[in-house]
Amino acid sequence: VRLVTFRRGRGEPKPGALWQEHVLDLTGLAKDLATQRGTVRRGRGGFPRTVLEIVQGGEAIMALTREAWEHGQRLVGQTAAEDLAQRRLAYPVKRVRLLAPIPSPARNVFCLGRNYADHAAERGAAAPDHPVYFTKPATAVAGPGDDVVHHAITKELDYEVELAAVIGTGGRDIVRADALKHVFGYTIINDVTARDLQKRHQQWFKGKSLDTFCPMGPVLVTADELPDPQALAISLRVNGQMRQSSHTSKMIFPVAQCIEVLSQGMTLLPGDIIATGTPEGVGAASGNFLKAGDRIEAEVEHIGVLSSKVVRP
Ligand code: MN
Repeated sequence: VRLVTFRRGRGEPKPGALWQEHVLDLTGLAKDLATQRGTVRRGRGGFPRTVLEIVQGGEAIMALTREAWEHGQRLVGQTAAEDLAQRRLAYPVKRVRLLAPIPSPARNVFCLGRNYADHAAERGAAAPDHPVYFTKPATAVAGPGDDVVHHAITKELDYEVELAAVIGTGGRDIVRADALKHVFGYTIINDVTARDLQKRHQQWFKGKSLDTFCPMGPVLVTADELPDPQALAISLRVNGQMRQSSHTSKMIFPVAQCIEVLSQGMTLLPGDIIATGTPEGVGAASGNFLKAGDRIEAEVEHIGVLSSKVVRP
């Protein structure tokens, strides 16, 4: 399932799923199914309000979600688009606004530093012996198509395309062999960074935590559709020019090991997000920093393209 969070006009953000050129309204579809069966006549019929609640909801909620997803796919093949929109079951993707799949994470986004050898080398750093972790605050999250603000405090704005894993089943001391069973799904994060702040404050947190510095999306792909997170092409373009082009097989610490080590003595929760590091080609390596007007496209195979425009504050 390719989960999205979407909004129509000024309506509340809702959980949906991307299918062909449609956004399926999972809430509406679940209600439609329940009504057909005579089980529920009013309200949301127990369907979650957000994608995060779907992630946190466990197998019963995921079963409801899959039913709604399959119901939506059948309807899209049989019903006129206007009819589906009127019944609040599905909308053409161009008619809705996509938000980050998890627009308000429950806690900071976990991140890996220097997790590709070629990126560590271009930054003049050694490949680490153990995973290097830091976090970005939930307030930095931006949606697909949202602007990245070139805050006045930085003159060295940079990009980093990353595969992000979303935890489904929490736990502590998760062993590597079980780690991928704890993953709900995968999305893309652009770990936007102010390099000068990173240097000035001698720590990654500040320079990576400004508002809009965590574009996420466009979809959250469930793990059943991406059985091997180490088998994906990963790339980033600025104004159509390729800047980063690599493969997730090149991670120093694969996703399963990132989860194993992070969870040692520390509980991971459903909905936690782990951005797994960026490959080589960042702007800092060439002095090519981002400027207002630039269009960034971060891409991971089988997930999609996360597009953002850089704007003045
Ligand atoms: Mn990064």
